[in-house]
Amino acid sequence: MSGCRSGGASEIECRQIAELLGDYLEGTLPPHTRELIDFHIDGCPPCVAFINTYRGTIDAARKLGDVEIPSELKKRLLAVLKSSNAPQQQR
Ligand SMILES: [Zn+2]
Repeated sequence: MSGCRSGGASEIECRQIAELLGDYLEGTLPPHTRELIDFHIDGCPPCVAFINTYRGTIDAARKLGDVEIPSELKKRLLAVLKSSNAPQQQR
């Protein structure tokens, strides 16, 4: 949260990507929101990796017959995303 400047109202954060990703992959997001995500992903490798992981997880879950992402796994993915986005946390 700290050090994260919200520059414009139209900008989207990595955290939001993670929250919207389910709908994004389902294709249920409004076109405008999809565009924002696409735009963000274009310049954010961590989010690309995050989405790939998420997709892989869904695929695996489908094969097992369970489409839902366990919230615990989602948290872990979020943690990975956060840590890769916050390299200045060192002391
Ligand atoms: Zn991002």
